[in-house]
Amino acid sequence: MRAEKFDAIVVGAGMSGNAAAYAMASRGLKVVQLERGEYPGSKNVQGAILYADPLEKIIPKFRDDAPLERHLVEQRFWIMDGTSHTGIHYRSDDFNEPRPNRYTIIRAQFDRWFSAKVREAGCTVLCETSATGLLKDWNGNVTGIVTDRHRDTIRADVVVLAEGVNGYLGTKGRLREIPKPDSVALAVKEMHFLPEDVIADRFGLTADEGCVIEAGGTITRGIPGLGFLYTNKESISIGVGCLVSGLAAASERPYDILEAFKHHPSIRPLIAGSEVKEYAAHLIPEGGATAIPQLFGNGWVVVGDAAQLNNTAHREGSNLAMTSGYLAGHAIAEVRSRGGSMIRDNLSLYKRLLDESFVIKDLTKHKDLPRFLHANSQSLFVSYPKLISQAAQSFVRVDGASKLDKERATSASFLKARSGWGLISDAVRLARAWY
Ligand SMILES: Cc1cc2nc3c(=O)[nH]c(=O)nc-3n(C[C@H](O)[C@H](O)[C@H](O)COP(=O)(O)OP(=O)(O)OC[C@H]3O[C@@H](n4cnc5c(N)ncnc54)[C@H](O)[C@@H]3O)c2cc1C
Repeated sequence: MRAEKFDAIVVGAGMSGNAAAYAMASRGLKVVQLERGEYPGSKNVQGAILYADPLEKIIPKFRDDAPLERHLVEQRFWIMDGTSHTGIHYRSDDFNEPRPNRYTIIRAQFDRWFSAKVREAGCTVLCETSATGLLKDWNGNVTGIVTDRHRDTIRADVVVLAEGVNGYLGTKGRLREIPKPDSVALAVKEMHFLPEDVIADRFGLTADEGCVIEAGGTITRGIPGLGFLYTNKESISIGVGCLVSGLAAASERPYDILEAFKHHPSIRPLIAGSEVKEYAAHLIPEGGATAIPQLFGNGWVVVGDAAQLNNTAHREGSNLAMTSGYLAGHAIAEVRSRGGSMIRDNLSLYKRLLDESFVIKDLTKHKDLPRFLHANSQSLFVSYPKLISQAAQSFVRVDGASKLDKERATSASFLKARSGWGLISDAVRLARAWY
């Protein structure tokens, strides 16, 4: 291994690394991929929703053999206070025509499957092997990596950094900064096991249909964050993610927030009688467009979570990871096919392709949203959820009070909490941050 030189090294076998390795190996490049885990997926944590579209572009017939749990037919968005939730649901059979648009998956199984496709395409995959440093020449150009296997070195024309949100290698190699506490969320998650038919009954599903609940409100105790619940075949993934700087400022522990979420009256019956078999914690990039680091340089590119490519507003990450990995792999193969070297100017093709894709367009559209959420966390995650809950209860409760009196009382409660100008200003600032 020591003397061998590759066209490309991919560090990490998650969504972005597998997409990059597949794109290059299937176009005939000599690629080696390193994964520090015992097997691809062994260290990876996700909710997890798989969005079909980006994977379909890479492996069109993935549905034939990919380990998919349930195809999602229903998405529920809940605003919660301490005892209630007010929600909107979307459910339609059209949503899954001509083929299902999204699925739940279990990453330990899915990443293994994706990695098998990468190997079939001709990539060499080394598990239980960490990249511990970048090799550079005298001009600072990246020329390979050092591994933790007897400090062996591997050389290549280009290194694809697909190492996930912590990005140890990129920060150590001074290619990017360590993510700041206000641009990452800490998510904790449990897997609750229940019989398949019990899950179907509780969520109104048939056979392989699935449902997702995403919940915001007082459950995160004024910290920007969300609770989530995803149905797998025989398990339910349940978790919460909160901004790290918010957890620190409020001295809150994510485990306590998850415990309270699980005991909320709207959630408790859904997981009643389940057996918890897995527990995991992981960071999620939340900084948006303004946190994206330099994406390419002489002999390197960075993709996926390591590049902070995560859409907080729509809670999408794996699809941005896969798309960025695939575009990086495609750009490298293009440069190679034109006989170019892996210098910064040539690798800028990756950034051009990414700019033209939904990834950068979506993140740019929502570039002010993370700042807006941080600056208004008390009103967004505490005051409004309480007001909305009171308003919803007043609306549905029949108690002899006239409808007009109830509506006046509801308006008064909003005005008392935020004032007329406050309400208008919140709406305008939200619209600006969203658009
Ligand atoms: C709780 C949670 C829920 C989520 N839910 C969703 C969801 O429902 N839908 C969605 O689209 N996204 C979701 N995301 C986000 C999604 O998981 C990420 O965006 C996606 O996994 C990023 O892929 P990646 O390949 O960039 O990084 P990762 O999947 O983190 O992969 C990085 C890989 O690199 C390996 N590695 C790291 N350092 C080294 C090294 N030095 N040497 C060798 N190997 C290394 C790691 O072991 C890992 O396998 C969620 C995230 C969390 C934490």
